[in-house]
Amino acid sequence: MAEEAAATGPRPVVSYLKIPDDGDPYLEGHKCKGCGAIFLAARPTCSSCGKDGLVEAVKLSNQGELYVYSIVHRSFPGIQVPYVSSIVDLEGGGTIKGNLVNIDPDPEKIKMGMPVEVIYEIAPTKDAEGNEYLTYYFQPRS
Ligand SMILES: [Zn+2]
Repeated sequence: MAEEAAATGPRPVVSYLKIPDDGDPYLEGHKCKGCGAIFLAARPTCSSCGKDGLVEAVKLSNQGELYVYSIVHRSFPGIQVPYVSSIVDLEGGGTIKGNLVNIDPDPEKIKMGMPVEVIYEIAPTKDAEGNEYLTYYFQPRS
């Protein structure tokens, strides 16, 4: 499957989703070696401690905990609702927004702090040129 993906070349839907030629996709963060703060976007200076030149790219964990969520009932035309928009704290650092899937959009079933994992899938829509995109979701950890 990895060879297929590399051959047909889905593109990452966001800059911090990395698709290595040989290996599984992952989310990339930028970690300050000075204070340990993690950011999604690359930056030369740490926004937390202000030190220069200590921020390095790191692979983020695919495991995390649900920090907060919102059940979305209205969206743009063509977007299927309801869906669960969520923010997840990843193990080892990094806080990421994404949709929580494979769970009923029901507050009775979704618990703050519940263990979740990152999954990677081809996005349901292509761009105007017909390019496929790889996106990520969260799902409850079994
Ligand atoms: Zn720092």
